[in-house]
Amino acid sequence: MKALRLTAWGEAPAPAEVERPVPHGAEVLVEVEAAGLCRSDLHVIDGAPGALPYRLPFTLGHEVAGRVTALGPGADGVGIGERVVVYGPWGCGSCARCAAGSDNYCDRRDTLAWHGAGLGRDGGMAEYLLVASARQLVPIADLPADQAAPLSDAGLTSYHAVAGLRHALGEGTTAVVIGVGGLGHLAVQILRATTASRVLAVDVREDALALADRSGADFGTLMRPDTARVLRARSGDVGADAVLDFVGTAQTLELAVGVLRPGGELAVVGSGGGSLTVSKPGVLPAGFRLSLPFWGTRHELAEVVALARSGALRVETERFPLSAAPEAIDRLRRGGASGRTVLVP
Ligand code: NAD
Ligand code: ZN
Ligand code: ZN
Repeated sequence: MKALRLTAWGEAPAPAEVERPVPHGAEVLVEVEAAGLCRSDLHVIDGAPGALPYRLPFTLGHEVAGRVTALGPGADGVGIGERVVVYGPWGCGSCARCAAGSDNYCDRRDTLAWHGAGLGRDGGMAEYLLVASARQLVPIADLPADQAAPLSDAGLTSYHAVAGLRHALGEGTTAVVIGVGGLGHLAVQILRATTASRVLAVDVREDALALADRSGADFGTLMRPDTARVLRARSGDVGADAVLDFVGTAQTLELAVGVLRPGGELAVVGSGGGSLTVSKPGVLPAGFRLSLPFWGTRHELAEVVALARSGALRVETERFPLSAAPEAIDRLRRGGASGRTVLVP
């Protein structure tokens, strides 16, 4: 089968021919219908040797939807032909967190050579994906594959980040989304669907602001030196109750701190490598709270799928054949992609 393999750190992944996996034990083989391309894939590709615990080579692709096509003799809980989305964070499978469906916060994370499908283990930018067990699958019924695949990371991560802030986002509050790409445009929709907050969006690209608008943002603005002031004015002059940063650079963290009201909360999702200094006294707002949400739980993935099936979530996608993955990766890298790029085998 065809697969997009990462064979050397810092080198573009190459399409290759590999053997189609055969499911053993409780394993399930999924015929891939669509796999999303995430900016995290670029962070992985660009990784310095030793920066990530993953062993090369492996197949990329951590956002996957498809159809169950073969079952190991011990597989249980899913039937051949069933359409599913794959829960991508794969932990040890046996600690308390994994048992509760929170592989994203596996207690043995630091000892594993992988973080999930396509992240140190063979992923779904391929014709088939082998999954350890049916517990990593959520049924999608008739949801189109290019809608379903991005739910498993862009949707789930955004949903989990919003869930952590929801208590602060009642009537009359303001949420700011920085970076309206694959994750950010779904975060805007999830904020609209599941909180009462006003939603303000920031990006460096006009087309991303148009996407924020289509996604239901109340206001969008370009990243400029006076953006904190503009956003504060839009929050009724008090500042934001919560900021979701899908970029995570020094510039966006500074904006986040500059726009939060006292007691405000910041969720940093983007892996942009910026840092904040904690000091008292210092520049952080009084009562400031910070979280670093990573992906989400299996239970939340089922909730995201239900939200999408209800019509409250619509992923804007750009489709490429798997054979054109190198071009799609270049386009995302250059800032030319809008919404989520989806690869179709
Ligand atoms: P993306 O490229 O689709 O979107 C990023 C958006 O940010 C783009 O619209 C871009 O124009 C905008 N942007 C870039 N620089 C900006 C700036 N200085 N100010 C404002 N906007 C700016 O990327 P994505 O796939 O949505 O991923 C977003 C980030 O989240 C990446 O760093 C990715 O690695 C990370 N991520 C984290 C998790 C997690 O669990 N924590 C999961 C998935 C992705
Ligand atoms: Zn991702
Ligand atoms: Zn675990």
